[in-house]
This record gives sequence, C-alpha cells and structure tokens, in this order.
Amino acid sequence: MSVAVTPAGAASPGVTSATGDAVRAAEARSARNYHPLPVVIASAEGAWTTDIDGRRHLDLLAGYSALNFGHGHPRLIAAAKTQLDRVTLTSRAFHHDRFADFCTELADLCGMETVLPMNTGAEAVETAVKVARKWGYRVKGVAPGAARIVVAAGNFHGRTTTVVSFSSDPGARDGFGPFTPGFDTVPFGDADALEAALTDDTVAVLLEPVQGEAGVCVPPAGYLARVRETTARRNVLLIADEIQSGLGRTGRTFACEHEQVTPDVYLLGKALGGGVVPVSAVVSSREVLGVLRPGQHGSTFGGNPLACAVALEVIAMLRTGEFQQRAAELGTRLHARLHEMTAAGLVEASRGRGLWAGVDVADRHGGGGAVARRMLERGVLVKDTHGSTIRLAPPLVITEQDLEWGLDRLAEVLARPA
Ligand SMILES: *Cc1c(COP(=O)(O)O)cnc(C)c1O
Repeated sequence: MSVAVTPAGAASPGVTSATGDAVRAAEARSARNYHPLPVVIASAEGAWTTDIDGRRHLDLLAGYSALNFGHGHPRLIAAAKTQLDRVTLTSRAFHHDRFADFCTELADLCGMETVLPMNTGAEAVETAVKVARKWGYRVKGVAPGAARIVVAAGNFHGRTTTVVSFSSDPGARDGFGPFTPGFDTVPFGDADALEAALTDDTVAVLLEPVQGEAGVCVPPAGYLARVRETTARRNVLLIADEIQSGLGRTGRTFACEHEQVTPDVYLLGKALGGGVVPVSAVVSSREVLGVLRPGQHGSTFGGNPLACAVALEVIAMLRTGEFQQRAAELGTRLHARLHEMTAAGLVEASRGRGLWAGVDVADRHGGGGAVARRMLERGVLVKDTHGSTIRLAPPLVITEQDLEWGLDRLAEVLARPA
C-alpha cells in the first residue's frame, strides 16, 4: 500500500475535526479503564487505519498482536462471512460441523493431542490454572488444596481476579483483593531461582516465553530449555502463555521453538481469532486435559462455529510458513534499524524477537506516552508500556517500505526532545 497519503495530523482544509467531539463523547459515557490516544478509527485495511476525519495512520501495534494478519485480511473476512450465513452459535450442548476440524488442526499445529477452546486470553489462563491444579491432585498426587503454581515477576496473563492475584504490577492489583492463593513468584530469566522455588506441591510453571506487556523482554539464551528440563525432571507442567508471542510474531509459530522447547501446555489467544472474533485455547495432552469431566468447566461461546471457522483459516495461513518467514525477515530489519538508532543516541535500548520490539526512550522525551502522541501526529499508531517503553508489533503483512517509513517517523520524533 502506498505511503503517499494525506499527511496525518493535517485535517483536510475546510473540514472541522470530529475527533475531539467523538473523544469527549466516549469519555463521558465509558468507564475510564483505558487511556486511548486521541484518534477515532473508522475503517482499516492491512497495516493502515483511517480515522473519522479521513486521516490515515500506520498501525504498528496491531491490536497487541491480535491483528498479526493485518486489518480485514481477505481470507479471514471471507471465512467469517461464509460462516455467518451458515450457523454462528450452537453452544457446546450440541456438536457443530466446524468443531472437530478446528480441534484437530490446532492440536496438529501445536504438535499436541487435545484442545479446550475458550474466548479470551485471560480465560485460557484461568482454564490452565484449573486444569493444572486438578492434574496435580488426580495425577501427581498432591494433597487436596495444596497445589502451587510458579510464575515469573513482570508477567502479564490477563485481568481476572485469579490472574491479577499473581501479577507484580501494583496498578493491576490495588483495590481488587482478596486474592487467590497458591502462586509463587520468581524473577523472570533466572532458571536457578525457578528451580529453587519448586516443591513437591508445585503442579505447574506458568511463563510467557517472551514477556510482551513487560516490554518485549526476551529471557537469556538457554533459560527456556533449562526450565523445560527442570520441570520435566520434577514432574511439573510447563505452561507456555503464547497468547501474544505465538502464531508467527517472533518469526516462528511459537516463541518456545527458538529454544527447541515443547511445553506441556500452550495457551493461545489474540491472533488465533484473526482480529475478527475473540478465540483462545488451551492445547495439551490427553493426560492433562483428560482430567476434566462434563460439567466441570466450560463456556457458552467457547468453540462456537464462527470462532472455529475464522481460527481454521488462521491455522491454514500459518501452515504455509510465509507469515513466520516475513516476521523473521522484517524483524531482522526492524532490530537493525533500532540498533542504529541506539548507536545514534536516539534510543536508550531495544529488545525483541521477530517483528516485535520494546524500545526504551530517554526521559527527555517526556515518557512513552508523549512519544506515542507525537507519533500519532506524524501518522503512526504505537502505544507505550511501563512508562518509558514503546512496544512495536506491526502486522506481519506490513510492507518493508511501510515499516521503514514508520521507523523513519520514530527516528524523527526521537531526534528532537519533547
Ligand atoms: C493479552 C494477553 C493475555 C490476556 O488476553 P485477553 O484476551 O486480553 O484476556 C494473557 N496473556 C498474555 C501473554 C497476553 O499478552
């Protein structure tokens, strides 16, 4: 797609900005649990959005990786439209004709046996916590009520009460207690600390192979492999939360593959729904997911026909390997540019894997939020995380030309203090 567009931030002459009114209307009537940038998107295609004032912006956030295939990918929209005309919801009280294919294809993509579909990422995490506990009691032989799960500091696994119980972010927890017990937190990237935290009551280790929300933090080389070895030896399930890192983002189907690690359980979400519908899943072995009996866990919408149809198309697209390859190739370019910017003193530090980066900006820029607002004025959508980090997660369908253009805008913004 061409980058020769109406300059962002410059409303066409004679057109009054509708954005201010729309932002105020949203703020007046919605809970303030988000602080969105002042842009009101009306349509989008591929890596580009168009707002209600007709300005176009390059999307370098991609719905926190839910839009790995870009906005409105023709294959995904076609799959959704076809399914809309057939059947959208049955509930799990009955079978439907997309369900078996979805489970078979997803299990196969993961190299695993069984799938439990849910809707949101947090639900997949909740499901894994319940399954790991039951597995601990039924299979491992942990005393009733004693099961413990080890997690990493700096994690982000969602927003439910149990999930924030093991968050280390005060903002995610304050005022939401009492919390669910049974979790032990260790530093991320320290395999010795993790091993020391395991007890006979530990049923699982729950980790993001790359911590996304924390700022795209990649653990030291060898960490995941050691965690895999330790958990296997101690009969502890390794649960990989690949909700953000999985499905092509890092240049592989799963981030765990970078260390040839196969976890016991994959948690998937975000991109699994193709940016069209929420779809999440817990993927594991018959031994692990087999601990559940009818009536013990479920979801009205989990595994619905529309979700299965879209996810099946997502899986088919991932089968070709082309998106993973794009993420790897464009990722090499992304990190090379960010290293150049670091060497030039524009960026404090950058990290990441594949088409995914955390960029730390200096205090003189007035924080990540200020950088994101200045990027918006130049026609690029990005979002800050943890104060001074900008997370870059372009759709994997972005052209190299558009990626370079977006990075040029970042260099431009960082070349001048706020
Ligand atoms: C986004 C995210 C979740 C939560 O997903 P929701 O769909 O927002 O509930 C869980 N884990 C990770 C790693 C995530 O990035």
